[in-house]
Amino acid sequence: ATSTFVPAVVVGSGYGASVSALRLGAAGVRTLMLEMGQLWNTPAADGNVFCTMVNPDQRAMWFKTMTEAPLDTLLWLPVINKQINSYAGVLDRVDFPNMKVYVGRGVGGGSLVNGGMAVTPTKDSFPDILPGVDVDEMYTTYYPLANRMLGVNSVDPNWWNTTDCYQFARVGRDDAAKAGFSTAFVPNVYDFDYMEQEALGQVPKSALNCEVIYGNNHGKRSLDKSYVPAALGTGNVTLKTLTKVTGIGRNADGTYAVNTSTVDTNGNTTSSQTVNCKYLFLGAGVLGTMNLLLQARETGTLPALSQQFGQNWGPNGNIMTARANWKPTGSVQSGMPTLGIDARNQAVPVFAEIAPMPANFELFISLYLAITKSPERGSFSYDPTSGQARLNWGPSQKDFAENAAKTLFDKVNAANGTIYRYDLFSGNRAFGDDFCYHPLGGAVLGSATDMYGRVPGYPGLYVNDASLIPGWTGVNPFVTITALAERNMARVIPTDNITN
Ligand code: FAD
Repeated sequence: ATSTFVPAVVVGSGYGASVSALRLGAAGVRTLMLEMGQLWNTPAADGNVFCTMVNPDQRAMWFKTMTEAPLDTLLWLPVINKQINSYAGVLDRVDFPNMKVYVGRGVGGGSLVNGGMAVTPTKDSFPDILPGVDVDEMYTTYYPLANRMLGVNSVDPNWWNTTDCYQFARVGRDDAAKAGFSTAFVPNVYDFDYMEQEALGQVPKSALNCEVIYGNNHGKRSLDKSYVPAALGTGNVTLKTLTKVTGIGRNADGTYAVNTSTVDTNGNTTSSQTVNCKYLFLGAGVLGTMNLLLQARETGTLPALSQQFGQNWGPNGNIMTARANWKPTGSVQSGMPTLGIDARNQAVPVFAEIAPMPANFELFISLYLAITKSPERGSFSYDPTSGQARLNWGPSQKDFAENAAKTLFDKVNAANGTIYRYDLFSGNRAFGDDFCYHPLGGAVLGSATDMYGRVPGYPGLYVNDASLIPGWTGVNPFVTITALAERNMARVIPTDNITN
C-alpha cells in the first residue's frame, strides 16, 4: 500500500460531504473526496446511464444478485424484483434485524436514488428537530442557501392540475380531503420545466418513464450536477471514486490516517492506499460514518471517542402503506412526488407523501410514505466479526409509527370506502414498517459531537452528514442535512483556522 498526504479528506459525496468539499475548496484548502460508488456519467450499451425501474439490470443495485425494491410483490406475486448480475450499482439496502436501510451509492450519494422532495420543515417544528441550533440563522441564511444551491423548484399548479402524470396525486388529495385532511405541495430538485416537456413528448423521458430509485437519466438535479461540480470547480478539490475508506486512525504527529481500498465495477480490489490529512470530514451517511467511528473506537485507533457515538438513531418515523382505490390513479405516474398529506397539527404529527407507483399500467393503488413523529430510537454497536456497525432496533419499535399512520389512513379509508392493500409487502402486511429511506442520527449534534460537528478529543476530525440529526426531521430530510452542513462549515473553517 502506498501513502500520501493531502490537507483535507472528505469521506463520501452525499449532501453533507459535497457541502463540506465545496466550502473547503472555496476557502483554498486542498481536499480529496473519497466515494465508494461510481461516478454515474457514462452511458451503457443501451445509451442510458441508469436502468429503469420496470426493467432493472445490474446497474440497479450495489453488489446484489436480485433487485430489492421496497414493494416485494404485486397481487402477492414476486413479479417486482428481478435477478441481476453483481455489480457496483446505484442503490443499496443494508439489512439489520427488524430494519432495512436504503442508501444511494455513487457520486452524489442518496441524491442519485431519492425522490428529490426538497422540503424545508416549519420553523415551529425546528427546535424539536435540532435542539440548540439558532433557528433564525437557519431560516434566514442556511435554508435559503441550501435551496438555492440544490436547485429546488416547484411544480406549476395549473399544469399539475391537468397532467395525467399527477392523477395519482390529485386522487390522493381528494381522498385525504374527504377525511378532513389537507395537503401541501412540496418542492423538488427535479426540473419541472423538463418534466412538462417530457409530457409533451419533446425530450427523452425520465420521471415519466418510471425512473427514480435506480437513478434518473434526465431532469434531476442530483448532487453530481450541483454541489459536486461546484466543489471540483474551485480547483482545490479532487474526487476518487470506487474508493472505500476502510479504517481511520491518528498518527503520532496528530494527522489522521485514512485507509482506502479501490475496486473495479465487479468488486475486485485494484489498489490500496493510506491518505494522511490534517482535517478529516466524515460525510459517509449514517451507516458509513457509524462504521468508521465505531470501528475506530472499538479497535482502538481512535480510543477516546465517547460512548455517545452510536446513540440516538431514528428512521424519521418512516412507514409505507397503500390503499386499494376504486378510482383510477393513472397508468403514467411521474416518479417525483409533489404532494404530502399534512397532518402535522395532529396529536402525533404525520406528514405523508403521496407516492407514485410507476408501472405503465393502471394499478388502482394509492401509495404513501408517511413520516411520523415517533419517539423510538435505536443504537449502533460494533460487530467485530464483520467489522461493521450493527443497528439495534427492536421488533416493537415500529409500533408507534405504524399506529400513527394507521390512525390517519383508517380515516382516509373510512371516508372513501376503501381498504388497505395487503399484497405489496411480504407477509400479508398493510404497512411497510421494516425499512426506511431516512436514516438519521448516531453522531448527534451537541451530544456525540459539539454543536458544529467537531469530534471531542480529536482536533481536525468532524462529522457532517445525516448522523448529526437525532432521528427525526418531520419532513423529508435532505434540505435540512444540506443546510446544517452549510452552517457547520461556515463556522468551523474560519474558527478552527482550516488552511493548507
Ligand atoms: P448520503 O447521501 O447517504 O451519502 C453518503 C455517501 O457516502 C454515499 O455515496 C456512500 O456511497 C458513501 N460512503 C459510505 N461509506 C463510505 C466509505 N466507507 N468510503 C467511501 N464512501 C462511503 N430525502 C429527501 O429529503 N427527499 C426525498 O424525496 C428522499 N427520497 C429518498 C428515496 C430513497 C429511495 C432513499 C434511499 C432516500 C431518500 N431520501 C430522501 C433520503 C436522503 O437521500 C438521505 O437522507 C440523504 O442522502 C443522506 O445524506 P448524507 O449526506 O447523510 O449521506
